[in-house]
Amino acid sequence: MNKLKTTLFLFAISFSTIAQQKPQNVIFMIGDGMGLSQISTAIHFKGSPSAFEQFKHIGFVKTSSAVQKVTDSAGAATAYATGQKSFNRAISVNTDSVAIPTILEQLEAKNFATGLISICSITDATPACFYAHATDRGQHEIIAAQLPASGVDFVAGGGRQYFTSRADGMNYLDDLKKRGYQVDTTVRYDQINSSQKYAYLVHETNLPGRHEGRDDYFPKTLNTAIQYFSGKKENFFLMAEGSYIDWAGHRNDKEMMIAEQLDFDEALQIAIDFVKKDKNTLLIVTADHETGGTAVTKGATQDQLNVEFVTDQHTATMVPIFAMGPGAELFQGIYENNEVYHKLRALIDF
Ligand SMILES: [Zn+2]
Repeated sequence: MNKLKTTLFLFAISFSTIAQQKPQNVIFMIGDGMGLSQISTAIHFKGSPSAFEQFKHIGFVKTSSAVQKVTDSAGAATAYATGQKSFNRAISVNTDSVAIPTILEQLEAKNFATGLISICSITDATPACFYAHATDRGQHEIIAAQLPASGVDFVAGGGRQYFTSRADGMNYLDDLKKRGYQVDTTVRYDQINSSQKYAYLVHETNLPGRHEGRDDYFPKTLNTAIQYFSGKKENFFLMAEGSYIDWAGHRNDKEMMIAEQLDFDEALQIAIDFVKKDKNTLLIVTADHETGGTAVTKGATQDQLNVEFVTDQHTATMVPIFAMGPGAELFQGIYENNEVYHKLRALIDF
């Protein structure tokens, strides 16, 4: 190699090192209500190492909304999706109740392929904040009506009733079909075609808890979505919500908490395996808030552990955030929830 070639070669190496910091794709996993104790249940009760143990870039997120110290899922998801803190119950509207653009909408406009996965209704606060705008999270029919035009390429969750059994008599499943979606009401992912759009509305209301007989729907759907996006030439943004870690906290239900956290862990491992192989995808994992004031405590005997709760509400405790892949180091430190959006914006030009 002559001198010029060597220089160019070294330049190419340093340039590719810089370029590697920018991800092409983003997988954003939100464990609703998933604080450090919830994650600790996976550490203690899984029986093998938790998927979380593979992260090296870890931080903490301050979760308060603009108005309330203790946020709800809507306030928190609005901050993540738009970069602006708002009031509790807001679905991607600002404190003046004006609709503000979401990361998913902005990436759609940049020709990204996009996806949303939830265990509860796809109109529930966390997924809704990525594709809809409403002044109150309870406006499920208003939220559902915004899904067909959103352009989201892969959607899976419950809440079918808000598309079909509506006060205005509209049928938004028909609207989805008219817009070219494959609409499926079962969890059958055979022969998924990456050139097609999919809306899997797999339950009238909310899927059951994992401890109540839900199968591996969440990890299986995440795996299907990853395969789907891998087959597309566009870059992608995928948000997947483990919805019921929060519900277990509200119910102070230890058994449900562990089952939902282990379900999330199973899905997380699928995302990690993909990110390690793909090398162009940034994986971010965090929560909207902690629920239950949950603690892993001393059990009845010396070698046992228990899970206890100090409230059946959300708390203002910071939540951990984990990142892997290009740009992951940006997510270390302690910062506000809406900063996550701005960090992503610094990494992806949208
Ligand atoms: Zn909650």
